[in-house]
Amino acid sequence: MKYNKKTKLFSRFVRILVKGNKYLIAILFCIMLTIAGLDLIEPQITRTIIDNAIGLKNTNLLIKSILLYTLVIIISAILNIVLTYLESIMKKRIAIKLKNRSLKHLSKLSGNYYSNIKTGNIISILNSDIFNIENFGIEILLSIVIDIITAVATLIILINLQPDLLIIVLVIQLIIIVIQTKFSKELSNKTKEIRQKDGDISNLIQEYVSNIMNIVISKSKQNFFKRYTKEQRILTNKCINLDLKIAKNTSEINVMSGLIIISIFGYGGLKIINNELSLGELISFQQYIGLLIMPCTRIVNSNTRIQQALVSAERIFELIDEPIEIQQNNVGKKIEKDDNCTIKFENVSFSYTKEYKNLDGINIVFKPYETTALVGSSGSGKSTIINLIFRMWDVDDGEIYINNVDIREYNLKNLRKNISIVTQDSLLFDDTIKNNILLNRKNIEEGKFINLCNKLRINEFVDDLEDGFDTIIGENGVKLSGGQKQRLSIARALLGNEKIIIFDEATSALDNISQKIVLKTIKEFTKEKTVIFIAHRISTIVDADKIYVLENGKVIEEGNHIELLKNNKVYRKMFVQEDTIK
Ligand code: ADP
Ligand code: MG
Repeated sequence: MKYNKKTKLFSRFVRILVKGNKYLIAILFCIMLTIAGLDLIEPQITRTIIDNAIGLKNTNLLIKSILLYTLVIIISAILNIVLTYLESIMKKRIAIKLKNRSLKHLSKLSGNYYSNIKTGNIISILNSDIFNIENFGIEILLSIVIDIITAVATLIILINLQPDLLIIVLVIQLIIIVIQTKFSKELSNKTKEIRQKDGDISNLIQEYVSNIMNIVISKSKQNFFKRYTKEQRILTNKCINLDLKIAKNTSEINVMSGLIIISIFGYGGLKIINNELSLGELISFQQYIGLLIMPCTRIVNSNTRIQQALVSAERIFELIDEPIEIQQNNVGKKIEKDDNCTIKFENVSFSYTKEYKNLDGINIVFKPYETTALVGSSGSGKSTIINLIFRMWDVDDGEIYINNVDIREYNLKNLRKNISIVTQDSLLFDDTIKNNILLNRKNIEEGKFINLCNKLRINEFVDDLEDGFDTIIGENGVKLSGGQKQRLSIARALLGNEKIIIFDEATSALDNISQKIVLKTIKEFTKEKTVIFIAHRISTIVDADKIYVLENGKVIEEGNHIELLKNNKVYRKMFVQEDTIK
């Protein structure tokens, strides 16, 4: 990473940590400073105890010094508890803030992003990376400042105490710092590799767990485990390798630290023998060296932790910086309560990828009080039209109007609030049947709900269940049949007050008789709405006011059922084919 980019990343990271936590940080800083100050007093007391109290056999001074020492230790301990408590509050706050922000941003991205999304990676960012940041905590940055202050203060004291002994110690310490700096770079690279691999494995597991039923049925377990084992082995090796490197580094540092102790007692001891130094001075020198080394190692170590946190921060920023391609247009026009919606496609062209036009010069009108149907073979672009109305993507060419205003001029939230889409496999929650239909909407009358469920014949199968409408249907409704799930989704949509209601192959799992009943109910409940009906079975849409036939992203025929049959082209062929298959 370039230096400049890294500083930018770092300063942004710090700003996120600091925002909203200023007072807390100020308090933390004061407490840390006090603890550091108390640390600096301790060796002075030691020296007094050894040289003045013990050396001069002064019991009175000994008692006083010991009481003072005890007081310092107790205050330090209490302050440490307060410190940890405040840090913990702040860490949680930051983690929750980042998580919320990422989750909200995710919902604002385009269909394009969702089509290429790797769920496991996102989950790994939301869990592991945010956890890393949480674990990191701003206190490391604060303690660096404190450590620098402590180190400088200690250094001044040490220079006054024993300059020549200090030089020996500093040389060894310098070597330690060089080793650590080199190591921290290596650590940062290795950590990044491991996080990436971890994301890949999460993806695999996610795919496996969320499709477990299909995987068992299609007997593709072997395939999963082959890939999984391979990836897991690579990850394991990387982790072991890293642990080994960390252990090696720790040992190196331990040896060097040992050398420091040896030189203090060797050289210092010699000086005491020659009467150039008192025992108290040597002991306090050793304590001060500890106070110098500890902050220095902490500073170097925090560098590695900062590197690790920055790797995570970068991944989180990548997610929250993902550009919002579909403009929200918060000040845009709104669809009012009494509006009916006429949707008009004018020369709309669109492609998901640049190579192929998925929609090519489409002209279509969807009117209120009418049902407009789209038919055509699979892949002809029917669902794509719906994606454009809902603005999961925006058109490449041409315009889509609602009541003669370009849909891009509408407030996106308001636009989507007015559109209800029922797809072949609508989202069902692991909740009761009733909650799945009502979806927390409090304003739906009980009478209307019961009437609708009766008409859609939802009651027929609900009455057979022990808990009736309070039966929990399992994740994505696994405990229901395809047709039952579709009835719930349709009921959910029909109870809403969206102006535009779209059924995309929403009755595909129903048998012919059930379908007729459901269609009749849909008609009854959507009178003043703009209804769009997509089906591959023509029998489903014969009653539509207007039918568009699509092929390869183009409208090739339009009219009502009778007109299209007279036309004697593709539609008629499709209709006849369907009839003979039946
Ligand atoms: P259908 O008429 O069956 O509803 P679609 O509108 O879903 O057809 O798809 C039209 C074409 O666009 C198909 O060729 C399909 O492969 C392609 N397509 C659909 N969704 C995407 C996507 N998210 N990314 C890329 N291509 C897509
Ligand atoms: Mg489709």
